[in-house]
Amino acid sequence: MRILVQKFGGTSVAKRETREQAIEHIMDARREGYSVVVVVSAMGRKGDPYATDSLLSIIDEKDRTNRRELDLLMSCGELISAVAFAAQLRGHGVEATVLNGPQAGIVTNEDYSRAQIVTIQPKRILQELEKDRVVIVTGFQGGAPNHEITTLGRGGSDTSATALGVALDAEIVDIFTDVEGIMTADPRIVDNATRLQTVTYTEICNLAYQGAKVIHPRAVEIAMQKNIPIRVRSTMSKDEGTLVTSSHESDRIEDYLGDRMVTGITQTANVTQIKVFAEPGQHLPMQRNVFRAMAEHGISVDLINVNSRGVAYTVTDRDTPEALRVLRGLGYEPEIASGCAKIAIVGAGIAGVPGVMALIVDAIVSEDIEILQSADSHTTIWVLVRGTDMVKAIRALHNKFQLHQR
Ligand code: ADP
Ligand code: MG
Repeated sequence: MRILVQKFGGTSVAKRETREQAIEHIMDARREGYSVVVVVSAMGRKGDPYATDSLLSIIDEKDRTNRRELDLLMSCGELISAVAFAAQLRGHGVEATVLNGPQAGIVTNEDYSRAQIVTIQPKRILQELEKDRVVIVTGFQGGAPNHEITTLGRGGSDTSATALGVALDAEIVDIFTDVEGIMTADPRIVDNATRLQTVTYTEICNLAYQGAKVIHPRAVEIAMQKNIPIRVRSTMSKDEGTLVTSSHESDRIEDYLGDRMVTGITQTANVTQIKVFAEPGQHLPMQRNVFRAMAEHGISVDLINVNSRGVAYTVTDRDTPEALRVLRGLGYEPEIASGCAKIAIVGAGIAGVPGVMALIVDAIVSEDIEILQSADSHTTIWVLVRGTDMVKAIRALHNKFQLHQR
């Protein structure tokens, strides 16, 4: 059996018309001889009646204490979506079976709202496929061994799709969404962002971990373990999208030669820069006190810079009040800049290439934008800018690296 997993995101299943386009893709795959397993997200985005956030809003925020029941509630969105999808598919004369997470054999641990898939027992799915049916699995959910329903957290449907791809030894996992593929930057920010024809698992993982929300990094890591290719494609068109594999399978010679210095640019908004300065001679205990206190209060720190005058680091805006409370409790008066954005310039070709930082600084400074802090790894350079400068800085960088010509 040649199995294809096709995952349709929120906007792809939101309306009858978009579901119709999704169904086209399923029928195409069947015509090509594939047995198709479909994974669906809940319908629409925040504000839409059956979207996960809308279901959650039935319960007042202060009453959202029972995590087990919240997972029961949140798992309804995908179920509604799957049943609507199956009904519409039958209208085209295609037999379909809807399975929720536990029915599909997706076994998770019991960590509600962020459960991890432990194993998948695909027997039932395979039985249905044998009967020439399309199996429609609710994304974002599974079941713990004690019959509890669990949800998988952010990007959970992507994870359901690739985990099923691995369990079923699928030929490909298709991630259908509302953009034409993985782009050199978020198309909502950069008009002339271009589609990447092929990327490696590592490249897209880096982009996704740095904020590009087109696919969840956990989903990519799962596919990578068994080398299952992923295609990120648009529901609205028949274009090929972006192929994600372990190596570039491109006919473009420059991709083979690896001279793709920068793959793409992505960002994380709503972060706060915190700087703590030390009294003369006190910088060693201060450094230790600050990071120990952040750790003890479960505040995750990023872009860390430690020097003899003090320390600088970032936290999410959400964690800022708590971080300030803790630091003041220790007797420090930190300097803060909230509402900042961390821009990541990602590319496997960045390592060791002279002049990359010069290009970055040049692009940003030419726009009169101040770089508040920076950091680098072998695949990524980060710059921290004020939130109000974010869009301008990203566009300037996109131009500087000529990513519109990809
Ligand atoms: P879905 O509901 O289909 O899972 P998501 O909203 O999770 O869709 O992901 C698709 C969105 O990701 C796009 O609409 C786009 O705005 C955003 N995005 C951010 N960075 C990128 C990028 N580099 N390439 C493509 N899309 C991106
Ligand atoms: Mg998504």
